[in-house]
Amino acid sequence: MTDFSGKKAFVIGGSRGIGAVIVRRLASEGASVRFTWAGSRTKAEDLARQTGAEAIQADATDRSAILAATREAGPIDIFVFNAGICIAGDPLTLDPDDIDRMIDINIRAAYHASVEAARSMPDGGRIILIGSTNANRVPFTGLAAYSMTKSALQSMVRGLARDFGHRHITVNVIQPGPTDTDMNPANGPLADLMHSVMAIKEHGSAEDVAAYVSFLASPAARGITGAMQTIDGGFSA
Ligand code: NDP
Repeated sequence: MTDFSGKKAFVIGGSRGIGAVIVRRLASEGASVRFTWAGSRTKAEDLARQTGAEAIQADATDRSAILAATREAGPIDIFVFNAGICIAGDPLTLDPDDIDRMIDINIRAAYHASVEAARSMPDGGRIILIGSTNANRVPFTGLAAYSMTKSALQSMVRGLARDFGHRHITVNVIQPGPTDTDMNPANGPLADLMHSVMAIKEHGSAEDVAAYVSFLASPAARGITGAMQTIDGGFSA
């Protein structure tokens, strides 16, 4: 456990799943945490009450709302962009508006919020994005657009790491594999298929991802930047 007392953390997409566990972890380690939610009001309010974190409604498809929420949370020491949706299926029949919405959340919001967070971030700050192992490997049909949104984060962090390195701000992507959440339940219909391509044939947990966030945010990780941190049970091995 790292002591993040005196540090301000901001998690975009913190109401459920991996994001909620990141909020819990950083708050338990002493950070002052603020997080956004879009649709899950009750879960966000419960989480805020349980952790002492502050919940802000801001839909990631609304650039002005995301920029304002990020600005108001600043100066941010630890910025985590976790919000994401997965639209999967036959590319010939998927609704183009759904794909564009996914691009808005998974790429556009991730970029604009990261840059806004960096604007007032103190030297030595941390920018951490939650990508996916599908940026490295797409072994199934129906995942082209989702995987594209996550591989975009790879070059984003490579570039932003260069842009902000002189301020000792690190910028990294964590790339989970199948992780037990609403998005991808460990007992879901596709679980066996996913496990068939993994070295460790089980879903990971949101706690594993949150532990990685905590490490990257710690002083020990000051030299890790512009890098992909894959935690996928060997999905991409
Ligand atoms: P969940 O569906 O369980 O949770 C998604 C989170 O994103 C919620 O907090 C949700 O908030 C938020 N969110 C969704 N849409 C918006 C929006 N328009 N604006 C703001 N916030 C939004 O997903 P996971 O916890 O599983 O996923 C978290 C991240 O991890 C995503 O980026 C996902 O792509 C990535 N990931 C997940 C994997 C998995 O197997 N679970 C594997 C690899 C990567 P609300 O409910 O309030 O709208």
